[in-house]
Amino acid sequence: MLTFESRSNVHEVVSEWKRAGLRVGFVPTMGALHEGHLALVSQALRENDRVVASIFVNPLQFGPNEDFTRYPRTLDVDSRMLDSVGCHAVYLPHVDEMYPSGADTHVVQEVAPKYLCGEFRPGHFTGVLTVVLKLIAQVAPHVLYLGRKDFQQVVAITRMVRHLDLDLELEVKACATVREPDGLALSSRNRYLTPEERAVAPTIKRALDAVVAKFVAGERRVDVLESHGRSVLDAALAFRIQYLQVVDSETCTPRVLGNAIALRTDTVAVAAYLGSTRLIDNVPLTGS
Ligand code: AMP
Repeated sequence: MLTFESRSNVHEVVSEWKRAGLRVGFVPTMGALHEGHLALVSQALRENDRVVASIFVNPLQFGPNEDFTRYPRTLDVDSRMLDSVGCHAVYLPHVDEMYPSGADTHVVQEVAPKYLCGEFRPGHFTGVLTVVLKLIAQVAPHVLYLGRKDFQQVVAITRMVRHLDLDLELEVKACATVREPDGLALSSRNRYLTPEERAVAPTIKRALDAVVAKFVAGERRVDVLESHGRSVLDAALAFRIQYLQVVDSETCTPRVLGNAIALRTDTVAVAAYLGSTRLIDNVPLTGS
């Protein structure tokens, strides 16, 4: 596996591949890799001739009181994991090349970042969109692979790619959420959970499934659906819920802001703290 640390090196090699007619997939990550990340890499490998993964813990997307400094960094293990699945290259940008001093240009999006996580993580999506736009420019792949686990991120990035006309060169693919057998979505942050918290964590998925079941049974009132999901989480007596909301899957706009009727195309999304660990998850209302 090739390792790149500068944007010019990754750009040059990917350009050579493209000149040779090869199709290039790209999987951006923050490292602390797990089977969810590897599923993206594997799908990219099936669908492309070359695959680049990046590992960059992006300071711009963490708030001042968030877990940037304690975010797990496991570079050696990550590189071995990527190599073992056949990833062709890993790109490890340096923070000072990514954000040279004086850099004051950021990507601000209006709608999707206002809701869900955006209400609790001001500036987070500006950080995500800025780094992803830079990574896309640096790597210049044909296809960008994202996980649906981060549903709002998929919405925001897809809209950025479309609205900035990057879609002329780039396809965005959203891949299914990889879960533990008990339903917990894999996440680099799961390693923060104590054994007691880990035992109760799958309730998040059960709460989402309960909303889906009620929707499938015919319930369309958003307040009823949301309070049903919240009651499942509340019963576990362990979560501090930030949001559990039915939203428009294209924009992340909460349905409570409209006529409060859930549609088949909507998504139910949740964020909740378990101890000091913030977990997010989502499923389409038609089930996953
Ligand atoms: P992260 O390293 O958390 O920034 O994630 C990098 C990419 O992996 C993002 O596109 C995530 O949505 C995706 N990802 C993270 N967890 C999972 C999962 N459990 N299943 C599928 N994709 C995931």
